[in-house]
Amino acid sequence: MSDIPFIHLFSTDTNKYVYDVNSNDIIKVDDIAYDYFHLLLSGFEPDECKYLLTNEYDSSAITKSIAFIQEIEKAELYFSKTRPQEIALFCCENSMKYTYSNYINQLTLEVTQRCNLNCRYCIFSGIYEQSRPHTKKDMTWKIAKSGLDFMFQYGGRDPNDSILLRDRFKPKEKSDFTIGFYGGEPLLNFELIQKCITYCRQNAPTDKKVGFVITTNGTLLSDDIIEYFIANNVAITISFDGPQNIHDKFRIHANGKGTHQEALNAIKRINYVARKMNLPETLYCLINCLVLGGFHFRELFDYFVSLENLLDNEYVHFDLVINTLTGGLKKWNDCYPEEQLEKPAGYEELLEEYKSACLAGKYKNDNNHTFYFDILNIFAYNNLYFDLHARTRHQFSDENEILETSHPGCICKLGSRRPFLTVDGRILPCERVFSENPSFYVGRIDTGLDLNKIKSMLDDFTNSTIEECRDCWCYRICDVGCINDNYEEGVFDARKKMDKCRQVRARRHSELVGMMKLLEQDPTVLDHYNEVAVS
Ligand code: SF4
Ligand code: SF4
Repeated sequence: MSDIPFIHLFSTDTNKYVYDVNSNDIIKVDDIAYDYFHLLLSGFEPDECKYLLTNEYDSSAITKSIAFIQEIEKAELYFSKTRPQEIALFCCENSMKYTYSNYINQLTLEVTQRCNLNCRYCIFSGIYEQSRPHTKKDMTWKIAKSGLDFMFQYGGRDPNDSILLRDRFKPKEKSDFTIGFYGGEPLLNFELIQKCITYCRQNAPTDKKVGFVITTNGTLLSDDIIEYFIANNVAITISFDGPQNIHDKFRIHANGKGTHQEALNAIKRINYVARKMNLPETLYCLINCLVLGGFHFRELFDYFVSLENLLDNEYVHFDLVINTLTGGLKKWNDCYPEEQLEKPAGYEELLEEYKSACLAGKYKNDNNHTFYFDILNIFAYNNLYFDLHARTRHQFSDENEILETSHPGCICKLGSRRPFLTVDGRILPCERVFSENPSFYVGRIDTGLDLNKIKSMLDDFTNSTIEECRDCWCYRICDVGCINDNYEEGVFDARKKMDKCRQVRARRHSELVGMMKLLEQDPTVLDHYNEVAVS
């Protein structure tokens, strides 16, 4: 075991802190303790540290400060030297098998590869290597049925997984697993969707509740279809990228005509139908806003705020997810040198406003937010202190010490969270990993998930930084996460992961500083991040 406490040091203008990895706590320390730890982390022996400190501090103050640290160490409160021994996501083969036999959260069906639009940034637009272009293929009933039967057998939710606020989606009744409908444009194969829903209603195991979600561009969403979805508890996600100039730059028909008005109309139709049906409860839907570059966040923010009457009323509530395609921007600029896009601007400005709103108590009374501050909160959730304050901390909250066998708090259990079933029966880790490259397939619906393949992908990811992870202060709050992001042309690239590790550590460090600066002004200022529920 290392002889150095498993800690990280950081400071604000007014205070010095130790982030203690084992307890996952942040401890305010005095200058002497801070410098002592700093010297220890730089490789000096404890006695050398004490000696070096005498250059700056009075020896009795040093003795007092170090005695205090030792007392805390002895009481096993903080500054433990324990580090993880074995880095593994599953403690044994059986635990892995159990997860993949019981806890497949959602199966997304690619009901068609056809699309009625020609979005310019679309993963199927042909600008991405290894990704298929749009085709005319539809999923057959045989494959869809196999997918549903697969979920009847293996679908479920791990009771230890937390439901995150920013991932929340409020179906009328909590489901045990979910069937997603995805495309192309899934409504081009509405018949198959209906058949799937009827089949689930009639054949799903009686002890499992099935939820449904659909992601659509909204252009084919008629009142009848909306009514059908509401009646069958299908949660609707509309792809909608905000104001016309942003949305229509990318989301277009084959003839180049923008689709902003049609997508906005879909949102209006949902409002209209929900009112007409006079639903006993508010209908929850989602807007998925995908942005690339060449815009100002303030413009996007102001636009969504201006839609308050449509997005948040007594009949309908739309949640909003903002996805910034940072990787896609480079690809775009390579493909369209004559239409170079700048990185989106103005995010920092919104974050500053968000921090001021926190300090002004705008989030203190949960029921009292205005729509404006709710949207501001959503924009800030994308990056700010949520992970730090709640999410990853939560994953380890029962443990005072890192477990001997554990894994950094980030990795995706790929293939169990949201496997994606393609029209021709292949299984991919999720709908984001859309590739023609066989290296990404994790099974076939006729033979099931290939656990050896999944294990080898997880091993590639884990083993590439095993030594670094053992001694990395970011262990609990790491979000290097998605395995897919570390592949280059279908081959795992350890350097990519190492680069990410460096970025994550730098970002987490500055987030810790920012978070403590806020908490120094008001210790309750981030309490609204505490609302993480466990399913
Ligand atoms: S940042 Fe990298 S080295 Fe650190 S815990 Fe995460 S994966 Fe491991
Ligand atoms: S983290 Fe990556 S692999 Fe896992 S579900 Fe998300 S995109 Fe897919």
